Amino acid sequence: MSDRRTIESALSRSTLTGSTPSGIDYRPVAVMPDVRVVKVGGQSIMDRGRAALFPILDEIVEARKQGIQVVLLAGGGTRARHIYAIASELEMPTGVVATLGKYIPMQNARMLQMLLAKHGGIYILPDDFEKLPLYLSLGCIPVMSGMPPFGYWEKHEAGSRIPPHRTDAGAFLSAEFLGSRRAIFIKDEEGLYTDDPKKNASATHIPRITAKELIARDLNDLVVERRVIEYLPRARWCHELQIVNGLRPGQVLAALKGEDVGTIISA
Ligand code: ADP
Ligand code: MG
Repeated sequence: MSDRRTIESALSRSTLTGSTPSGIDYRPVAVMPDVRVVKVGGQSIMDRGRAALFPILDEIVEARKQGIQVVLLAGGGTRARHIYAIASELEMPTGVVATLGKYIPMQNARMLQMLLAKHGGIYILPDDFEKLPLYLSLGCIPVMSGMPPFGYWEKHEAGSRIPPHRTDAGAFLSAEFLGSRRAIFIKDEEGLYTDDPKKNASATHIPRITAKELIARDLNDLVVERRVIEYLPRARWCHELQIVNGLRPGQVLAALKGEDVGTIISA
């Protein structure tokens, strides 16, 4: 009856919109499970300049010398906030705001690469993921923008023009794709607190919490983008977010060695 041309496969007669056909479970391979996916904060680290950044880079280089494989993602920070504010005020759609914002973490990634060049820093694009095995086996430190490439296709959230997937989301999604157990976020606080410690002096540190508990607490403000907390329980590989204070000497190296410093948010 049907003259539709098909090639026999589990999906050949599927619209791809029905419920998942039997036999196709989601069991992705862990592509590079030993890689540490690390975001260097934009406003929290990069914008503070050399006093904050250089000691962190020393610890990353030290980890690399110890054989730890690191992929660095750059945050945006102050300049990203500036363009978000101006573009929002000019009534740009969220997709445009996201597209404009993507250039800032790219700038930060390029500076990180130059600073790490003599230690094997190499700038990569998302399309270069497949070259990571080569770069890492050569001892390189791949550096990329943390911004996920949704661009014009970024979805908007009620009451906001700010792209909900920014560089924290990009770091988490990269860790999940690579099959890394933890995504590491280098920021300027000891981790998660009950409230923003910069605005509320009575906020207390939370060393460990689950995504579910954190969502239930419905805190005023968070140390990582909300989307990441929502996605964490659904992840196949990346089951933990670790937030460490890059301003405290030794924290970054400890985190890269797998120690539970800072805050661990688990799935
Ligand atoms: P980045 O530049 O790395 O993206 P952000 O400045 O966006 O970092 O986010 C980190 C900041 O979030 C911290 O410096 C802190 O002031 C703020 N913050 C807000 N809420 C919290 C919270 N509940 N716990 C810890 N920090 C928080
Ligand atoms: Mg941020």
